[in-house]
Amino acid sequence: MDVKFDVGSWQVSRVEEWSGGFTTPEQLFPEYDAAYFATVRDVLRPDHLTHDGIIEAVFQVWVARRNGLTVLIDTGAGNDKERPGLPSVGGMTTPFLARLDEAGVAREDVDLVVCTHLHVDHVGWNTMRIDGRWVPTFPNARYVFPAIDRDVWDPAGPHFATMRGAGVAQGVFEDSVQPILDAGIATLAADGEEIAPGMRMHHAPGHTPGHMIVDIADGGERALFTGDVIHHPVQVLRPDWNSCFCEDAALAIATRRRVLTDAADTRARVVPAHFGGAHSTFVERAGDGFACIMPSVDRAPS
Ligand SMILES: [Zn+2]
Repeated sequence: MDVKFDVGSWQVSRVEEWSGGFTTPEQLFPEYDAAYFATVRDVLRPDHLTHDGIIEAVFQVWVARRNGLTVLIDTGAGNDKERPGLPSVGGMTTPFLARLDEAGVAREDVDLVVCTHLHVDHVGWNTMRIDGRWVPTFPNARYVFPAIDRDVWDPAGPHFATMRGAGVAQGVFEDSVQPILDAGIATLAADGEEIAPGMRMHHAPGHTPGHMIVDIADGGERALFTGDVIHHPVQVLRPDWNSCFCEDAALAIATRRRVLTDAADTRARVVPAHFGGAHSTFVERAGDGFACIMPSVDRAPS
């Protein structure tokens, strides 16, 4: 589905890289509860769960534009990457750049590339392979990385070997982050930093130690690009369910609850990295968790 919405004077759209069945809910969610899941299975089909019971996932890049400024948020898995730790996202050959072009964004037009965290499926299109070298895909952009993730995912640093996701991350920093650092076009974001007019980065740790969300507040409207704080709508309903890729389970739950509470109380649109269906959602408090209000139109529900 093509999705476009405004946040004040920002225009937001998305460009899909890949979608499909990803893994079973039992594998994705360590806190999976079969009895509960059975009660929501029909609601999740077909946009968020395949008819075979596999979690439906989307790799998509969010495009935010305002007054000639073009920002990309998260950059998918990329093409041609060697991914021994997660072969399903290695060697991809998607027409993502052609789709981006069709959406009116040439590589040279991009001013800012923001990665919510430095996992394999959020940094891929940072670079592309030209003549055997990994070079910045967006030559005129500044790239914004969470400062803490830049440190912990660096395989030359002291933290990498202790990371739960180190196996999956093999090669990722080297081909998708280091070339950006080497080119001198990276900005390492701190908590609360304004990276564009009305667009701030906020620390939202747990999924990764440095995970950040992108907060656009403009013209009385707000959207939170929540990266992988929430992978799937069932985590809105059950915010204590982590994904198996979360580094710190307790911190990931606390952050998820804090972000969803903030979104519910300020009527902010939640824009996760991997939602299918309407691709973003509003939320409201419901019992001990939250409920999704999937927008069927491009404005906030009244
Ligand atoms: Zn992800």
